[in-house]
Amino acid sequence: MVFGSVCYFCETNPRSVFHYYCNECTKLKRTINLMGDRVYEVVENVLSRNKKEQESIIKDEIKEEIKAKTDSLEEKEMDDLPPLIEQPEEEEIQGSINHYDNRKQILSELKERIKKDKKK
Ligand SMILES: [Zn+2]
Repeated sequence: MVFGSVCYFCETNPRSVFHYYCNECTKLKRTINLMGDRVYEVVENVLSRNKKEQESIIKDEIKEEIKAKTDSLEEKEMDDLPPLIEQPEEEEIQGSINHYDNRKQILSELKERIKKDKKK
């Protein structure tokens, strides 16, 4: 262990010189920032028990949250779907091409006229 290069939080994992915490603790901190007191509750209720107790508690503890998340995700997915876009018909495409060619024609005629005017 190099002095001063260990995470200030877990005091075990190495950290970079630019960070106070290791990667794991940084993620944990982010989770705490996002979830607030809920993290402490889960740690208290779930992790401070033996393995068997944990499994049943984990199920109860996060069951509702997982369900809520799944439900809202499904709703969001439906809302986020882009509207159906119909493929343009052959005629429409040809119409656009004609319109473009027409514009090009007008533009070149204008250019010709400007050239003539300059010569006068
Ligand atoms: Zn750490």
